[in-house]
Amino acid sequence: MKNRNIAIIGGGPSGSTIAALLSKRGYRVGIIHDNKNTELFVGESLIPAIMPVIHELGIEEDIKKFSIYKPGASVWLNNKTVASIKFKQGEGKLPDYAYQTIRKDFDNLLLKTAIKNGTKVFNTTAKLISVSNNKVALEKNTLDFIDDYFDGQPDIIIDATGRKRLISNLLKSKTKKGKRKDVALFAHMKNVHFDSESGNIHMHRCEKGWSWRIPLPKRTSVGIVAESSHLKTFGKTIEEQFDNFVINDKQLSPFLNSAERITGIQKFSNYQLVTEQLFGSNWVLAGDAAGFLDPVFSSGLYLAVNYASKIVNAIDEKKSYTLLNYQNDWHREIKSWQKMIDIWYNGRLFTTYKIGQDRLSTYIGRKIEPHIVKHFTRIFTGEAVNSKYSMWLLNFMCGSLQDTMKFLRMQHYDQKDLEI
Ligand SMILES: Cc1cc2nc3c(=O)[nH]c(=O)nc-3n(C[C@H](O)[C@H](O)[C@H](O)COP(=O)(O)OP(=O)(O)OC[C@H]3O[C@@H](n4cnc5c(N)ncnc54)[C@H](O)[C@@H]3O)c2cc1C
Repeated sequence: MKNRNIAIIGGGPSGSTIAALLSKRGYRVGIIHDNKNTELFVGESLIPAIMPVIHELGIEEDIKKFSIYKPGASVWLNNKTVASIKFKQGEGKLPDYAYQTIRKDFDNLLLKTAIKNGTKVFNTTAKLISVSNNKVALEKNTLDFIDDYFDGQPDIIIDATGRKRLISNLLKSKTKKGKRKDVALFAHMKNVHFDSESGNIHMHRCEKGWSWRIPLPKRTSVGIVAESSHLKTFGKTIEEQFDNFVINDKQLSPFLNSAERITGIQKFSNYQLVTEQLFGSNWVLAGDAAGFLDPVFSSGLYLAVNYASKIVNAIDEKKSYTLLNYQNDWHREIKSWQKMIDIWYNGRLFTTYKIGQDRLSTYIGRKIEPHIVKHFTRIFTGEAVNSKYSMWLLNFMCGSLQDTMKFLRMQHYDQKDLEI
């Protein structure tokens, strides 16, 4: 039914991708978007699994104009030990690269692509009301603002409002909060030092917490993630906390001691939140409005954009994929990312790395290393997050194998020493 009217609230990556793809298929789509001209947008590092949708939208050449080519990732266990992967080590089917991108330009490009495909954009803050039978509707002022674009109420309302979570808050939907209560502070800096693999995202285990350095054109995005109580020891304001943390943390300071902050600071807290029900009678939740886990593996934009494409298939009735399939797939995948996030924070991923390094001098170590690196890389590119074997291998290596080796005194690490 090509004449269905779709209202999308929020013109971030998830909303614009849905709009671009639905408009292309002939739907009447309107995005209601409150274009806040903020200085900084978080979410600048992409992973290879986002590339197929980027290709489908035909926007890679434009992305290159404001982005840095990202061939891999580097994780600093301390300021001397770095574990780097190149995405090509995954030897998978996905492109073996992604981009580090200026989010404001990335979001504008996606929105322009939606407009080019026929989407109409209305710049205002949308308000919704709850009506009977698990339905929502545009409030009168919002309807007036869009000048009856849908000839009454739209058939479907997609909530792509990010962490504002318009529909879940309105309907008081059931949510699951994450275990971590970290605070993330981030800013752009210049003169940040990169001594190797300068296109990679660089992540550091700090004395307490962790941090990222994301190379961008003419600047570097620097973020710190730690418990609020720890950040407060660096000062009262977020500026003092950020500036003093990056200079005083022993792991980070060698890379930032001559750096200069060129923007204000943005703060994020309580971001780990997942909604159970992702669709209702006439609504769907997309991107962060459905849920967000953690910034650590840069999964946010990939999930927002990739599942935008799945939502489009579910809405387009010619396809057999349904909104229930979307909801199930999303929850299944979120569980896998959650497992990866857990082994990052509980020290098991770093312990596996250390055990592996110790065994590289042995015959068996050398033989199995390429196999393990291939599967781990594929997971972190996003390609194998849904692969039973790859996920089993990750859980086995970071779980029972590690414990059994400890019991048999074949390894001496305490994962607690490496937790974050
Ligand atoms: C600290 C931190 C670091 C991160 N780092 C990364 C990273 O490196 N890589 C990565 O892939 N992801 C990262 N993410 C996640 C990423 O930022 C999000 O997953 C992504 O922005 C989600 O896109 P979205 O379109 O769902 O929502 P958003 O990008 O939040 O867009 C929602 C849009 O809706 C608009 N809106 C809200 N309410 C209304 C309303 N009532 N009416 C109209 N418009 C409205 C907003 O103005 C906004 O433009 C990070 C997240 C955090 C918290």
